[in-house]
Amino acid sequence: MRIVSLASGSGGNAYCVESCGDVLLIDCGVSCRELVKRCRATGIEPERIVAVAVTHDHSDHVRGMATFHSHFPDAALLANMMTADAVAAATGVPCDDFTLFENGQTFEVGRFTLSPFSVPHDTSDPVGYLVRAEGVAYFHATDVGSPLDSVGVKLAEADVATLESNHDPVMLRASGRPPSLKQRIAGPRGHLSNDQACDLVRRFASPRLRRLALAHLSGECNAPHIALGAMRETLREIGRVDVDVRILSQNEVVDA
Ligand SMILES: [Zn+2]
Ligand SMILES: [Zn+2]
Repeated sequence: MRIVSLASGSGGNAYCVESCGDVLLIDCGVSCRELVKRCRATGIEPERIVAVAVTHDHSDHVRGMATFHSHFPDAALLANMMTADAVAAATGVPCDDFTLFENGQTFEVGRFTLSPFSVPHDTSDPVGYLVRAEGVAYFHATDVGSPLDSVGVKLAEADVATLESNHDPVMLRASGRPPSLKQRIAGPRGHLSNDQACDLVRRFASPRLRRLALAHLSGECNAPHIALGAMRETLREIGRVDVDVRILSQNEVVDA
C-alpha cells in the first residue's frame, strides 16, 4: 500500500491510497486541474481512482469535488448522509450521486476495506478512516478537535497513520487572528495542537505502528520543525524512535 499526500492544510486537502493498481482518494479539496497534475507527477493516473471518500464538508476538503465528479464519473463518492447533504448543497454534486455509509460500518470498495469513524470537528458528522489493503491498516484523521479515546482506539489498529498536528498553542495565541477564530481552532471541535497529537500517539500508538505523517499543519501558527520535534520527543519517551515520522505539505506531493 502506498499513501501519497497531494495537498495537506487549510488551503486544501487530498490524499491517495494506492493498492494493486486501485487508488482511493480521501478528500478532494484542491481544484480538479491541480489534483490531476499532482497525481500524474507522482505516477498515479487519476483514471485509477475507484472512489473518493469524504471526511467532511469544509471547502478545504471538497472544493474540487464537482469538477472531479464530472470528469471522472465512474469514481464512487463515499460519505455519510449528513456530509453528502452538506457537500451537495455546497458544491452542486447531486445528493443521489453519493454512495452512503454509516459511521462505524465497514465496507469494501475496489481493493480497500474502509471503516469510517466519528471525529470531533465543527461541522455535520465529520469522520476519519481506517483503510485496510494488502494486510496493512492505514489510519487517516486530519480535522480533529480533541484527542478522544474513540479516535485513539482506531489509531491503535494502524500500521501507518496520517494524523493532524495543526498548531502550536503559543504561536496561535500570538498570531494576529481574530479571537473568535483562535477560540474555534483551539476548541474541542476545532483542530489538534501538536501537544494533542503527541498525547494521542503517547497513549495509543501500538507496537505495529511503523510510519506516521503529520498533517494539516497551520502555515501561520505552526512550523514543521516544531511539530516534528514534539512528535520525535514523544516517540523517544515511549521507546519508539523506530517509527518513521514525516511532515505533509500544502504545496508539495509527499509520500506519507
Ligand atoms: Zn481542513
Ligand atoms: Zn475542517
